[in-house]
Formats: sequence, structure tokens, C-alpha cells
Amino acid sequence: MKIQTIVALCKNKEGKLIDGCSCGTCRQVISEFSTAETRVIYQFNNKIVIKPFKNLLPDAFTKKSLEADR
Ligand SMILES: [Zn+2]
Repeated sequence: MKIQTIVALCKNKEGKLIDGCSCGTCRQVISEFSTAETRVIYQFNNKIVIKPFKNLLPDAFTKKSLEADR
């Protein structure tokens, strides 16, 4: 089973939501448990954004990368 939706929220010291999303390392881990179409929800420019995961980590290193002919 793959993850269908991920919500990535960032708070400041006072607990107020601020802009932010997962870092590159987290995106790599997420890629191993999600699909290209997994929805990622986060705040950017003070607005809630919903994007397919493939837009956050295009050309991700996946299991397929290990199977490719080199
Ligand atoms: Zn991270």
C-alpha cells in the first residue's frame, strides 16, 4: 500500500503555521512509500498548496533506478 496524501506543516516557536515543506532528504524517503500522484499538502506564500509528489521530486531515485541497464 502506498501513501495517498501527505500533509507537511511547519510551525514557528509560537505555534503559528508558517511556510515550509519537506527537505530533500524527507522527499527521498517519502518517494519510497508514495506514488508520483501522491498528494502533498503544505503552506507556501501563506496559502495552502496541493501538488502531486512528482512535482516536488521529479526524476526521483527509485527501485526502478536500480533495475535500469547501465
Ligand atoms: Zn526533512
